[in-house]
Amino acid sequence: MDGGEPRRLSAMTFTLAILGRPNVGKSTLFNKLVGQRLALVDNQPGVTRDYREGEARLGQLRFIAIDTAGFDSAAEDNLSADIMKVTKQALDMSNACLFVVDAKSGIIPADRAIADFLRKQSKPVLVAANKSDGRAAELGYQEAFELGLGDPVRLSAEHGDGFGELYEEINRIAFDAGFDIEVAKGESDGEKGINPSAPMKIAVVGRPNSGKSSLINRVLGRERLLTGETPGITRDSISISADWRGTKVRLFDTAGMRKRSRVVEKIEKLSVSDGLRAVRFAEVVVVLVDAAIPFESQDLRIADLAEREGRAMVVAISKWDLVEEKRLRLRELRQDFELLLPQMKGTPVVPVSALTGAGLARLHAAIQESYENWNRRVSTGILNRWLEEMVIAHPPPAPRGRRIKLRYATQSNSRPPTFIVMCSHPRLLPESYSRYLVNGLRSRFGLLGTPIRLIFRSRAEKNPFATNQ
Ligand code: GDP
Ligand code: GDP
Repeated sequence: MDGGEPRRLSAMTFTLAILGRPNVGKSTLFNKLVGQRLALVDNQPGVTRDYREGEARLGQLRFIAIDTAGFDSAAEDNLSADIMKVTKQALDMSNACLFVVDAKSGIIPADRAIADFLRKQSKPVLVAANKSDGRAAELGYQEAFELGLGDPVRLSAEHGDGFGELYEEINRIAFDAGFDIEVAKGESDGEKGINPSAPMKIAVVGRPNSGKSSLINRVLGRERLLTGETPGITRDSISISADWRGTKVRLFDTAGMRKRSRVVEKIEKLSVSDGLRAVRFAEVVVVLVDAAIPFESQDLRIADLAEREGRAMVVAISKWDLVEEKRLRLRELRQDFELLLPQMKGTPVVPVSALTGAGLARLHAAIQESYENWNRRVSTGILNRWLEEMVIAHPPPAPRGRRIKLRYATQSNSRPPTFIVMCSHPRLLPESYSRYLVNGLRSRFGLLGTPIRLIFRSRAEKNPFATNQ
């Protein structure tokens, strides 16, 4: 029992047992969480070889994971006493458990036997429906609800899907059990955060003739770099690596592609598909708009696409040298952008001139800023203080007489920042309230130039059969 433990223990004492019958993917998951940081404890008294224990890292979360692997899969359908014994022992050593089932094969009697056992324990259980890749997994995922252990998390340990939700759920379980297992952004090991040695991937997108190749040439310094091989700057079919004002960048070369395509006269066809490819490639999308004909439908489509793909964004206005009444015009353009793409409110709008080089320093700074915001992590404590203030200032409505309670928020992911708010009746929450929270997140945490994802979820109940709350 962990009832007598002090609150807010250090992250590394929270221990999570990964349980389940053989072959569901426990070891695959354990290896993903622990990687090389493995501490084999098989020679300690009282601990058998049946366990592996390691320092787990999941984004900003730090905890101990125990894997109960090492069984022969012969006993798959017939839960042996051995498996039950090890399951029980692993649970005794842990504060909570992650019960892994195989969504592909569906729930079998061995899973139900473990579930029956876990329901009788007092430790928190999180069910992971693993192998959720592929269509065959949907039914197994649905079956996992019937285990009576709360809402399962969809996971693919092998392909790395579902880890955002896993992050959020493990964080919540630990938090509820009195552990703070989330380290601050600065302590991150860089697995998900900014890696200064990796180049920042940037795509400059925009309509033909908006000035993309002129701008890229300016950034790279010399015209001939687009056509020739130069030491320190490598060029392959789609991207150019360079050092831009001390930042390693990798630029997606849509302009070069189009130039080549001119030869084969496929300009129209390529201009749409390269925009798409470029957005998918990029971490930061620079939407380059011609000052003389700004925000035409094609510009907005590409900006909207970048938002939907969850990329960091900067809007650059090209050919600024030709603009008169620059200050007034810039103010108008910023207002226009906010009206046309309100979901990207606050995105930097930077005037540039490839001809004179004006605005390039500001463009560089804006790209850095959007990129940092896109990578941002807000700690759970600060986030929940913010949520409380938001709810006090403007409580959620009570549609059909049912009060919507916002309980807890956590950032499940970055790139782009993704927040999960646990609440009652998430489906009844109006869109306007969601916008209120997104705008609040933007202004409080300065999340400009990045999409923000906000997901509302109802909390997995302790008693899965309780309906009204
Ligand atoms: P354990 O016995 O529970 O530790 O299971 P393993 O981790 O050894 O995995 C059993 C098998 O399932 C292996 O062949 C894995 O490659 C496979 N596997 C694990 N996770 C996944 C997944 O997310 N998707 C798919 N399709 N296969 C997986
Ligand atoms: P792309 O099709 O988007 O790659 O556009 P280009 O870079 O080929 O530029 C299209 C036209 O706009 C060319 O004639 C350029 O010389 C001109 N242009 C590009 N940038 C600027 C600029 O900052 N100022 C001015 N005055 N002309 C520009």
